Amino acid sequence: MNLPLKNNDSAELKALDLAHHLPAQADYALLEQLGGSRIITHAEGCVITDIDGKSLLDGMAGLWCVNVGYGRSELAEAAYKQMLELPYYNTFFKTATAPAVRLAAKIAEKMVLSNPDLKHVFFNSSGSEANDTVFRLVRHYWTLKGEPDRQVFISRRNAYHGSTVAGASLGGMTFMHAQGGLPIPGIEHVRQPYLFGEGFGQDPDAFADACVQDIEDRILSVGPDKVAAFIGEPVQGAGGVVIPPQSYWPKVEALCRKYGILLICDEVICGFGRLGQWFGHQHYGVKPDIIAMAKGLSSGYLPISAVGVSSHIVEVLKTGGDFVHGYTYSGHPAACAVALANIGIIEREGLIERTREVTGPYLATALTRLDGHPLVGEARSIGLLGAVEIVSEKGTNLRFKGAEGHAGPVVRDICIKNGLMVRGIRDTIVMCPPLIITEAEIDRIVDILEASLNEAEPVL
Ligand code: PLP
Repeated sequence: MNLPLKNNDSAELKALDLAHHLPAQADYALLEQLGGSRIITHAEGCVITDIDGKSLLDGMAGLWCVNVGYGRSELAEAAYKQMLELPYYNTFFKTATAPAVRLAAKIAEKMVLSNPDLKHVFFNSSGSEANDTVFRLVRHYWTLKGEPDRQVFISRRNAYHGSTVAGASLGGMTFMHAQGGLPIPGIEHVRQPYLFGEGFGQDPDAFADACVQDIEDRILSVGPDKVAAFIGEPVQGAGGVVIPPQSYWPKVEALCRKYGILLICDEVICGFGRLGQWFGHQHYGVKPDIIAMAKGLSSGYLPISAVGVSSHIVEVLKTGGDFVHGYTYSGHPAACAVALANIGIIEREGLIERTREVTGPYLATALTRLDGHPLVGEARSIGLLGAVEIVSEKGTNLRFKGAEGHAGPVVRDICIKNGLMVRGIRDTIVMCPPLIITEAEIDRIVDILEASLNEAEPVL
């Protein structure tokens, strides 16, 4: 197809989309039935607008990333200025750029708040790439340290660590493993701390103990001297906003220390204020050796990710010559300049404190309005991450038979029709609004959710 582009003509763009574009994580046959993707043309604050003029309150901050909201000309100006000055240079040739160095120092300033040893930064462009970096760096570290048998990563079922070969393998999503012969060897998946789904009715601390016991059992069956690291999202995002019992992470940390295993937190969603702290692990009071971050680092305005690495690991890397790993766009100056400006906005506007003290608690209270709804098994949140579990029988965690796993997408589609962008993950609706969201907008999210659940009831 070679249609000349008119000024954002809806039918034309949808036809071109179907003819040429393969969107991410999509069912291409279904897209064809639907007549092409919804084309988003502009956005402001917490509202996105599509090519047909429909506006949606963005309850997902794009894809868990637009923390400072849309329409920040300051970020566009930071990119523009940097592109005029130095649009690109690499960090391969014993070279660096000012924005990369300054951003590394800025990230370190936030990481040392909870762990003084966590102060080095390696740049990449996506969360998946960050986890690939983690994977290679950790295995290299143990080899240099004289324990080359420590190669095994322990992760959780239903975790999400990205879409690359290492990222999807570290992740615990079996439907992703089914495509491409994954996971790669050396990755073990253990229980997830999903109280509603897998420990319904249990005491949260006893459930956390059982999950941690599963990790210890796996360490012992693999052999403690073969385990390199444990990796987990402080709160599992794409798994359905799985908020662990408060005692879970400190116990996981103690276990890692007991067996000398590295503790890695994937902060790709939880970082940069989502849980009301700079990083999610700071909410749980643990000190990871390594963290991965992306998304909120630049609020999605340009692609960038980073891996935070502790000094004790860097000291070992220094004994091994070149760390032969890196990307053309590691430390991309325009992306770094945007991330610096983005962090500046988060600081200046107090978005983390606001999430912790105002909007996070407000969302939690607003969601309690759904507690009495016949379809709602649980409505939970932490900071500005929320989830609503859809059940077939009130007071249980039973799902709709025949439609198991589909209630989320059904309710999501109704929410979208009603003007709210949320995500449906199996039988769970998840939300992750920009950190600038107002109390009135939170009320609107919950109002639309409630109306949409009412509308879904007869069709589920
Ligand atoms: N890790 C976590 C926790 C994520 O949620 C994601 C993406 O949603 C990733 C890694 C992968 O990031 P990206 O899509 O930028 O590769």
